[in-house]
Amino acid sequence: MLVDSHCHLDLIDPTLERVEALLAQAAAVGVGHFLCVSVSLGNAPVVRALAARYAQVSASVGVHPNQVGDDEPDVTRLAGLAADPLIVAVGETGLDYHYGAEHITLQQARLRTHVRAAREVGKPLIVHMREATDDTLRILAEERAQEVGGVMHCFTEDWPTAQRALELGFHISFSGIVTFKTAEPIREAARRVPAQRLLVETDAPYLAPVPHRGKQNQPAYVRQVADYVAALRGIEPSALDAQVTANFFELFPLARKDQPGLRAASR
Ligand SMILES: [Zn+2]
Ligand SMILES: [Zn+2]
Repeated sequence: MLVDSHCHLDLIDPTLERVEALLAQAAAVGVGHFLCVSVSLGNAPVVRALAARYAQVSASVGVHPNQVGDDEPDVTRLAGLAADPLIVAVGETGLDYHYGAEHITLQQARLRTHVRAAREVGKPLIVHMREATDDTLRILAEERAQEVGGVMHCFTEDWPTAQRALELGFHISFSGIVTFKTAEPIREAARRVPAQRLLVETDAPYLAPVPHRGKQNQPAYVRQVADYVAALRGIEPSALDAQVTANFFELFPLARKDQPGLRAASR
């Protein structure tokens, strides 16, 4: 079994028919669990509803750093939403100066809000970090994010940066970007991250891996990411599947290893 540790099922297509088709396509290549990640307070209920409906889907709550003009979370409200037993993590949060440089102050305050909420409920963080390495790692440390840990998702930095995140107690998750031609520094990190701290993801609908690059991404394609990382590390694909799946359920203990299908009606 393999897990897609970060996807946005509802952003691919919110219709249940299409979601079920995506889950089935992923299951056909051995992908049996999905962490569907919230990007705004607006879509958080949609994400939660998917986890309430499908046993193989877990949900988070958080506001993406590039999300502007939507409802702004405070610690009390975010912690209240995150206390829900169906919510396994807080995020995605973080800093992204590539698209969001004009909102740096807002992003930094919002990241602190997320870390405080995560610590309040004792759930791990899902961190998005793009062109903001020093500020992200500094704020995580200042807010004592290591008390809850989490994942640096869609990791696009080099090995020294990975080491800094690992020292903070974070896992490192690689997406399809690791397969891109120009990604040699990311590949070096993917070779060297300790086995117990490694995850893989699609970040679908974004960033399809080679050979699907340019098409809409979907959770089934985490298979290509996992096989690629296995080859980089010189291990069997089945060994990598087992390792990242074990890592996922250890990092997100509230994610349940249920058989695929509809959850009991009571949830
Ligand atoms: Zn992200
Ligand atoms: Zn994402």
